[in-house]
Amino acid sequence: MVTLEKIARLASDGQFDSPGATIYDLDMMNLQKVKALGEGTKHDICASTASKRKVVDSPGGRIGDVIKAGVCHAFTPDGRCVGMFKTLFTNTCQHECKYCPNASVSHRPKSFKYTPEELAKLTLMLYRGNYVEGLFLSSGIASDEDRTMEEMLESVRLLREKYRFQGYIHLKVLPGASYEHIKQASELVDRVSINVETPSKSYMSELSSTKDYVNDILQRQKYIRHNIAKGGLPAGQTTQFIVGAAQETDKEIFDRMLSEYNEMNVKRSYFSAFCSVEGTGLENNPSQPRWRENRLYQMDWLHRIYKFENKEIEHAFDEAGFLLNKDPKLSIAINTIHSPIDPNEASKEELLRIPGIGPKSAYGILKLRNRERIWKKEQLARLGVVTKRARYFLKLNGWQYSSLGDWA
Ligand code: SF4
Repeated sequence: MVTLEKIARLASDGQFDSPGATIYDLDMMNLQKVKALGEGTKHDICASTASKRKVVDSPGGRIGDVIKAGVCHAFTPDGRCVGMFKTLFTNTCQHECKYCPNASVSHRPKSFKYTPEELAKLTLMLYRGNYVEGLFLSSGIASDEDRTMEEMLESVRLLREKYRFQGYIHLKVLPGASYEHIKQASELVDRVSINVETPSKSYMSELSSTKDYVNDILQRQKYIRHNIAKGGLPAGQTTQFIVGAAQETDKEIFDRMLSEYNEMNVKRSYFSAFCSVEGTGLENNPSQPRWRENRLYQMDWLHRIYKFENKEIEHAFDEAGFLLNKDPKLSIAINTIHSPIDPNEASKEELLRIPGIGPKSAYGILKLRNRERIWKKEQLARLGVVTKRARYFLKLNGWQYSSLGDWA
């Protein structure tokens, strides 16, 4: 896998080892800059799909991930893993978000910025060198959002028009970006996103004295939604929450996520557990455990893929509105499945509510029972059911797991 260090070295040397790669003069670029701007995206989630503007979310089709600064990966529905060059345009920002190392109030070690031509050339070289298949571009706001958006768009325009780059591009829209810039982005890139960060205006005002939740973020999401409706952005828009930077509950994040899907037509919500960074306004706040982020992804999955209703989902939260570090589907099942279920009789919806049974295995059960009666758990295991978990909620051939009563 190509690392940020390798990208920086390649950029610095102007060396690309693919025979087809063109070597440009990148002597203005240095290792420190490529590394700093790549590392600036560490907490941005960019899971998405592949090049050629083929879309996108299919249940179980991909499980994109970020993890490393510099490159992010995604799996396409056909199982291909693609990499995207992931970078900031600049790590300078006029906003004062307390959690962010790019904020004007943070003690940022050094400011860096690409020129549009530099970034376009570097992306193209990485693409031609077969290191990445696309670009994920985010940024701080150097002088003002119009100027920075203009420069980011110029990079994309150079890639698309001058260098005829057809790879996948995900562009982060800056808070407060103009309608005109969002419209231009919609015509050039595959996907855009703007981070909603928190569930409400009041939480945002705790975290930033300069960013206006309604105007800078929600209004821009509406602009994006409008452009999607007009046929732009084949891979739609996504958003991201920073989990636990303010005192918000998981329930509040989840409810906002529902509004993002229902009102903003967002395709996916991503969650990034708050990570305390030295030099920022929240450096003394504790970082949030990674499991909190993972449990929210499971909740999202229950909503989007399993189609759980909100009144069922409520059971996953404790009285204060937080998720516990255990499978939320299990918490819901304990509270809503009152007697063991016979897989020979259950509807698809009932099967999907049993821990250990997913969409694929539920489908397998429905198909199998058309041919034969299900009477032992080995038949279920062969279909992918995790019987160790499912057995508490099943009855088979009149027999049920003896400790079902433990859940009561
Ligand atoms: S607007 Fe974005 S880049 Fe700027 S300080 Fe806030 S979170 Fe950081």
